[in-house]
Amino acid sequence: MVQSNIDMANPQTTTEEKSALFPTYARFPISLVKGKGSWVWDDQGTKYLDFFSGLAVTSLGHAPDKVKNKLKDQLDELWHVSNLFQIPQQEQAAKMLANLGCGDAVFFCNSGAEANEAAIKLARRYHQKVKGQDRYEIITFEQSFHGRTLATLTATGQAKVKDGFLPLPEGFKTVPLHDVNALKAAIGPHTAAIMMEMVLAEGGIHLVEPAFLQEVQQLCEQEGILLIVDEVQTGMGRTGKWFAHQHYGIEPDIFTLAKGIASGFPAGAMLAKEYLREAFSPGSHATTFGGTPLASSTIIATIETMQEDNLPQRVQEAGEYLMAQLTEKLASEPWVKDIRGRGLIVGIECDGPVGELVLQGQKKNLLFVTAGPNVIRFLPNFYVTHEEIDQAVAIVVQLIQEHSIKEASQS
Ligand SMILES: *Cc1c(COP(=O)(O)O)cnc(C)c1O
Repeated sequence: MVQSNIDMANPQTTTEEKSALFPTYARFPISLVKGKGSWVWDDQGTKYLDFFSGLAVTSLGHAPDKVKNKLKDQLDELWHVSNLFQIPQQEQAAKMLANLGCGDAVFFCNSGAEANEAAIKLARRYHQKVKGQDRYEIITFEQSFHGRTLATLTATGQAKVKDGFLPLPEGFKTVPLHDVNALKAAIGPHTAAIMMEMVLAEGGIHLVEPAFLQEVQQLCEQEGILLIVDEVQTGMGRTGKWFAHQHYGIEPDIFTLAKGIASGFPAGAMLAKEYLREAFSPGSHATTFGGTPLASSTIIATIETMQEDNLPQRVQEAGEYLMAQLTEKLASEPWVKDIRGRGLIVGIECDGPVGELVLQGQKKNLLFVTAGPNVIRFLPNFYVTHEEIDQAVAIVVQLIQEHSIKEASQS
């Protein structure tokens, strides 16, 4: 076989040019330099329709004006203050988040993993310091994703994120999703919390069944276990409600946010019910960058914009249209096994790996990502128009049909 000088695991790097970065990402051979709304441009001037959204981050589209203006105003005033001072913007951002759902107390951080880490720490500390109980164990589910810190990768129900990082911290158990008996068997005197996503996003866009969630909630109540919902990807309107657990009518004890919370500014948050507030006393948990004036202003502007434009409702409507179009156009494709999702997180499960289709899609000027090996994941921004949805659907239909033709010609 002839050796090409393109590294297939890392297609953009040729042997002539060595990056100074760790090779932690298999980067696409595209360098994006500008974005507005649903569209991004690369350094060659090529324009792409963005159904990737920085992986559910730029939910209001690229460079949304109201958020941009608020961030600019704050840049002129003050960037950073230590959390040892009063930060009015942080107080306001916390009140706004609390008013959107069942969370009463908010801790700001900078990422999803940190928000989950805070949730795990809060659950343990509540049991150990407030209740005086030796509870520390966190139960999570197979196919889940909770982050890349040592605790959150241990919580994650996917072997690939743990590979080479032994020994893992103690106090975590993982059980299959929708298996009540396995969950019951995992619960013991040391169980502190059950942590779960409402849509297992990285794990392949699997929606939690309402009946199972009801069982989980009942078990938590009976056994004095806290329920933590990881809303890092599903929160902030992505599923058509502010938080995905609101579709189920439940109130988790703790839930976490990040990705879409600040339109692309790095920020995360952990929210908990009132009775958990006292578990974090001064000095028990902290971060340098969480909830700075810049981060908080961006969160405030993101929420204000979402409220003014009624975005959760818009997501619901756009999501229904997207799902209907995909179902109509792809129902007869034998390679498509399932189309599922909620709001504007939608997966197309195929009968084989879809990684190649992501690259083919880029050649047709559509950006999207996978969710596990066989699922195409669409994450458009909340202002996405029907016309843009039509364009993306037409491209993905073409990609799938071309794939099927190729498969047929090879067999
Ligand atoms: C992305 C993600 C995380 C991790 O967030 P980071 O900001 O990358 O640390 C955790 N949980 C879920 C559900 C996610 O989608």
